[in-house]
Amino acid sequence: MTTDTTPERKEFQAETQQVLRLVIHSLYSHKEIFLRELISNASDACEKLRFEAIGKPELLGGDELTIRLKVDPDAGTIAVADNGVGMSREEVVDNLGTIARSGTRRFLETLSGDAAKDAQLIGQFGVGFYSAFIVADRVTVISKRADADAVRWESNGEGAYEISPDARADRGTEVILHLRDDDREFLEEWRLRELVRKYSDHLGVPIVLEAGGKSETLNQAKAFWTRPKAELGADDYQGFFKHLVHGEDEARAWAHNKVEGGLEYTSLLYLPKRAPFELFDREHRAGIQLYVKRVFIMDKAAELLPPWLRFMRGLVDTADLPLNVSRELLQNNRTVDKIRAALVKRTLDLLEELAASDAASYAEFWTTFGAVLKEGIIEDPAMRPRIAKLLRLHSTTESGWVTLADYVARMKPDQKSIYYLTADTETAARNSPQLEGFRAQGIEVLLLTDRIDEWVVNHLREFDGKPLASAASAAADVAPAIQTPDRIAEEAAFKEPLERLAKALDGKIDRARLSSRLTDSPACLVFAEHGISLRMARILKQAGQSSFESPPILEINPKHRLIARLKETPDEAAFTELARVLFDQALLAEGGELEDPAAFVRRMNQLIVDGLNEKPRILVG
Ligand code: ADP
Repeated sequence: MTTDTTPERKEFQAETQQVLRLVIHSLYSHKEIFLRELISNASDACEKLRFEAIGKPELLGGDELTIRLKVDPDAGTIAVADNGVGMSREEVVDNLGTIARSGTRRFLETLSGDAAKDAQLIGQFGVGFYSAFIVADRVTVISKRADADAVRWESNGEGAYEISPDARADRGTEVILHLRDDDREFLEEWRLRELVRKYSDHLGVPIVLEAGGKSETLNQAKAFWTRPKAELGADDYQGFFKHLVHGEDEARAWAHNKVEGGLEYTSLLYLPKRAPFELFDREHRAGIQLYVKRVFIMDKAAELLPPWLRFMRGLVDTADLPLNVSRELLQNNRTVDKIRAALVKRTLDLLEELAASDAASYAEFWTTFGAVLKEGIIEDPAMRPRIAKLLRLHSTTESGWVTLADYVARMKPDQKSIYYLTADTETAARNSPQLEGFRAQGIEVLLLTDRIDEWVVNHLREFDGKPLASAASAAADVAPAIQTPDRIAEEAAFKEPLERLAKALDGKIDRARLSSRLTDSPACLVFAEHGISLRMARILKQAGQSSFESPPILEINPKHRLIARLKETPDEAAFTELARVLFDQALLAEGGELEDPAAFVRRMNQLIVDGLNEKPRILVG
């Protein structure tokens, strides 16, 4: 700590500069949010003090935690002052001079350089303290922790700041904005009253306006979630959501519940409209806020909701946990387990209500978060049937989303299974040769294109008593080889070519067989009855787990001219060439990667040249 009173000049961290510039430019048309951000920081500081005072009640003393807006029209300043935790010199340097938070770094990495898009990102991210520079050409912060000397920080937001000791005796922080000439509107009492009502009414700390020698409390100063539901409108809930996520985002839906009786808690759960960047980052800590008897205990209490509901935001306030509860304690706690189970049900209720009342909004939710919700099918067997009803899927016969219940209602009278096909993209799935027979018979097939779907189908197994079956499995032949005289003759005629095929493709396939699912394509690959899907095998292989690989079955279409040509090729070398082409084609159509693409191209070219020589017939029928 310096005892010298001359201010020390320090440069902002390079990234801080970048954020500052961006904030000032992109939020120029939403200047007013600076007040919300500073009040929000002041409120957080009060909540932190309330928390620290659990162990040290003398910290609070007789003080009422308060946020004061001090207006000085002569000086052209407005100050946001709180008697919260305050900051030490080191904290001031860390918090206001650097971008310490990894979230900010990641945020910077996602910037595109496109001003409109970046402004949206800022909104999603929350700008915090730096928003002060949107309206101020100089910002002074004076802060004092109870256990440290006061410190003064000052900057014009252009590259550097000065820091020096200060004489302030009271604990807390005061942020003084020297307003730009254009922004003197924020000295007007009516304007401040309006803004506090709009953005900060829900905070649990009183906000007092001090102007012209009078003071006036502007908000209700009652924790938002403790207010009766009947008193709160959609705007209020949206306002609190913005405070909660520190950003401009909106919520799509929410559930606010007070539970009494056995357990006592209030929960406020929000379904956000937009996904955070970290949604698919399993390392990232998600979760909701935990309060104990109105005291903020921790952010991102991951124990309160399972990972498959990590897109939810909100809070729980309970009287049934001790104030000094730690993260460790949360992990094996029966109260927490019960609350979590109830919150899971509440969230599913919320999603079911949304799906029933507003299909379009639910579809947007699904597009944003559906892949996360699907994890619940795998992770929570008890909730599986409810989550299954919330799934939205693509299918061969419909253009929009379908539900499993829709599918079941459309099943053919003698259809036993719910058919699906997994693929990397919807287009690849729709055009897969494996579906030709299903299409010919008018049987609907669900098209699953999220990576996680491979696991989802393995865990879901059935819906409404109907088993799920892969259309790409050897078991799912749509017209099981009915032993018509025709078919018997075909089987006999192809006995030898099938054996030759198996030999020519030895090691690549398990066996070759006649297909009844193909109508247009010469061949396709299917996986063995109890094997894993070819796509799953690929995903596992990419993850370095190739032990599960089992060779596929090659199905050929006896009615196709290429197959007829194969059958009539006596020369073993020519037969093998053609067999390889068939196999590679089938693999490509299935979404697989060729081992030797150049050889495939060479063989295809040879076939085309052969075909040209054979004119006027063309080869591929
Ligand atoms: P955020 O609030 O999103 O963390 P900010 O840039 O607004 O980001 O603030 C950075 C940090 O500075 C805060 O996390 C907090 O630790 C500290 N801080 C800001 N304002 C105050 C305040 N009034 N009292 C105490 N600490 C504060």
